[in-house]
Amino acid sequence: MATCGSDCCSNGSIFDEKSISCDKTTRVLEGCMPLPIPDDVLKEIVPKAKDFALLHGAGMRYRDRYDADKLEFAPFFLLPSAFPKREFERVVKIQPLINILMHRVAHDHEFLESTLKNTVRVDSFTARLWDIYTTVRKEGVTQSVTLGMFRCDYFFSVPCQCAQQVEINTIAASFGALATRIGLLHRYVLGELRRPELLHHLPENGALSGLCGGMVSAWKHYKNPKAVILFVIEDITYNICDQRFHEYEIRRQRPDIHVIRRNLTEISQRGTLTNDKRLIIDGDEVAVVYFRAGYEPGQYHTEAEWEARLTIERSKAIKCPSIQYHLAGTKKVQQELARPGMLKRFLSDSEADHVRQLFTGLYTLDRDEEGDKAVKMALESPERFVLKPQREGGGNNVYGKEIKDVLEKIKDSVEREAFILMDRIRPPIQQNYLIRPHMPVSLAEVVSELGIFGAVIGDDKDILLNEYAGHMLRTKLSSVNEGGVAAGLGALDSVFLFD
Ligand code: ADP
Ligand code: MG
Repeated sequence: MATCGSDCCSNGSIFDEKSISCDKTTRVLEGCMPLPIPDDVLKEIVPKAKDFALLHGAGMRYRDRYDADKLEFAPFFLLPSAFPKREFERVVKIQPLINILMHRVAHDHEFLESTLKNTVRVDSFTARLWDIYTTVRKEGVTQSVTLGMFRCDYFFSVPCQCAQQVEINTIAASFGALATRIGLLHRYVLGELRRPELLHHLPENGALSGLCGGMVSAWKHYKNPKAVILFVIEDITYNICDQRFHEYEIRRQRPDIHVIRRNLTEISQRGTLTNDKRLIIDGDEVAVVYFRAGYEPGQYHTEAEWEARLTIERSKAIKCPSIQYHLAGTKKVQQELARPGMLKRFLSDSEADHVRQLFTGLYTLDRDEEGDKAVKMALESPERFVLKPQREGGGNNVYGKEIKDVLEKIKDSVEREAFILMDRIRPPIQQNYLIRPHMPVSLAEVVSELGIFGAVIGDDKDILLNEYAGHMLRTKLSSVNEGGVAAGLGALDSVFLFD
């Protein structure tokens, strides 16, 4: 028997009922078609879907036995997952406003300083980023234009019946390319299942062209037709298809642009600045730096990698993200923005009201009266919250009973200021078939997290480009806290909109 994924119901089995209402709230979503799919149909459609994924590059490198000559398909769900149309359209429409918000936050020195002053005392990673930010600020800005390629993540929340924001990613927001592949895959699957009448529920997804269009616009702004775009990559790239498709799309849009790929160690060894602060690597001048790495401490092995980040930041290249965008994406900033009235520092009253509706409860854990209250609340009912450190990339948050263990240890020390507390969002459950390499296909109870991409280019005075840039859906087993795609508990998905 499934357990209800919401606070609104206390009873029973959920998939025996047609749908959807419980005290006027949706706790179970009906999928795009009746489930289960008969065994004989499933037996035929799964190999077709796997082949489609492989032949359209919805792939990844082997995580456990890396082999540069081989790919396997990325975990995916067989069918598109239901998401309420009204809320999808709402978060799409609001993305340009979020772009502006993040751009203004990143350019508000006083706000960043007062927000992060406690965090940098206890979180050494954020402190290193802060050092770079203040160093280049003191030296004088050489490139005032920045490129943001954000991804805002949302759950549809059962209790409020609305989309609620999980976080805003300002660095290395991935899956723009694979999301478009999975959209195609689901169109194919619905066709093969002889349900073409459902296709109009699947929205177009211009994530890849939108994001690459952002990079091309930034490149044009740099005004050197010979300069390249530098992808800052991990030492080993498992999510290679996603990254390569960005390269191919840039080439499609502008055959004259070259992309080069280097990790931070290579940049430290071979990257230099000219006297006028142009970034040169292996003879190429860099117009745009696109970070697909650099968001977690493990990617900076030694001081050399930090030096490389500083060199990039000092340069005239347009950074995606600039160091202040990176800082604006911290969990601490997200929590401060959720304070009553805070959004009005950056947006008009009505704009602020719209954005505010996306936020769930976020609480400071600073050592003051407010923080004490939050600690007490979390200790009393840990299942209502998520405890978050200033980290990106998944797998760092603390849930449920473990929150109690962690907070008991740190509640009287300054360490607690490295974390924020957030209301746990309760998404509705639905069913779907999880398809993973070398694993049996299973019908699973799942929840979906929607990502909305945004692209913005501007400086402290003007915004030169501001767009919604497509979407992605990641779905995970409802029984797990975090469904990393690489970890195999989450998988790529696409959106099936319903009224
Ligand atoms: P990261 O920077 O590591 O991606 P996130 O804030 O996105 O951090 O959290 C990682 C995952 O944890 C999310 O994708 C989501 O599945 C889960 N999660 C985070 N915050 C919440 C929340 N408030 N309620 C429910 N699940 C959450
Ligand atoms: Mg996340």
